Amino acid sequence: MTAKILDGLKIRDEMFAELKVEVTHLTAQGVRPGLAAVLVGENAASQMYVKSKVAACEQLGMASWLHTPPANATTEYLLQLVDDLNRDDNVDGILVQLPLPAQIDSKRVLEAVSPAKDVDGFHPVNMGMLVSNRPGLVACTPAGCMEILRRNKITVEGANAVVLGRSDIVGKPMALLLLHANATVTICHSKSRELPEIIRRADILVAAIGRAGFVQANWIKAGAAVIDVGTNKVTEAAEAERLLKNFPARLEKFRAKGNVLIGDVHPDAVNTAGALTPVPGGVGPMTITMLMSNTVKAAKLRRGSNEVKK
Ligand code: NAP
Repeated sequence: MTAKILDGLKIRDEMFAELKVEVTHLTAQGVRPGLAAVLVGENAASQMYVKSKVAACEQLGMASWLHTPPANATTEYLLQLVDDLNRDDNVDGILVQLPLPAQIDSKRVLEAVSPAKDVDGFHPVNMGMLVSNRPGLVACTPAGCMEILRRNKITVEGANAVVLGRSDIVGKPMALLLLHANATVTICHSKSRELPEIIRRADILVAAIGRAGFVQANWIKAGAAVIDVGTNKVTEAAEAERLLKNFPARLEKFRAKGNVLIGDVHPDAVNTAGALTPVPGGVGPMTITMLMSNTVKAAKLRRGSNEVKK
């Protein structure tokens, strides 16, 4: 059996088209959703991420602002900037790109962001809203995983769902979203025993641990839906050859390029799972999509719109 590929790029395109219509509609009512990004210093990867977020705003007709304090900025400077953005009524979403330089108290800065504008969904108030299943802003990656399940009509209610990983930004919110969708949820982590046995019971598996190809194909129940959040850059030839033994075309590409992105699930799982997100092109594109969606949602929630309570 070959798994159905759960194409994140396709869902991103669908959702961008929907969001574009919504932004046009809101703008016509005098509410143009807007995202303010804060990028401290000159980290090349962060610059690239922020650039793509600003470009996505432009593509959707949303407003965006980019603030670029220098690498030696202080916590107080950042707190003042966040305070200004909290007070600016044109700004619906505030994104503080991580990691921040070592001298900055990241926790204080993130907690200074108004929960109403916390489009990353990291603020303890939004985490609490999620725990109690009330409308709020949910972390983008797990929210994107739920969209993948929903738009592929994968039944969550009553399913045995296993979440591998318990980070605040992926594993925990993911488990809560699945629980609220009436799955029976098991959360696993580095101290869990008998992982293969637990995973074999999963109708839905979400893997978010950051270990290339960790989940073996024969741990997966035949027909299960597998959401692979991991994005691990493999650069060692021996590891790439072991993981991509059955994928000669990908191995060729690795040899030409010197690296390959591998999820937390072994690529051979395509022969055991019923449905599977590819890496790349599965969960990855959904994270930025949900950031855009959260910004639109924040614009509506701040103004007390009922439309978001779906
Ligand atoms: P994280 O904060 O490092 O958390 C990793 C989690 O995995 C921890 O809960 C850890 O357990 C658990 N873990 C580690 N090794 C394990 C093992 N051998 N067996 C069982 N559990 C194990 O990572 P994260 O931020 O959640 O990210 C996870 C992965 O998702 C990474 O590959 C990251 O790059 C990727 N990611 C992708 C996107 C995207 O947009 N595609 C977004 C976010 C993250 P303990 O709690 O016991 O330490």
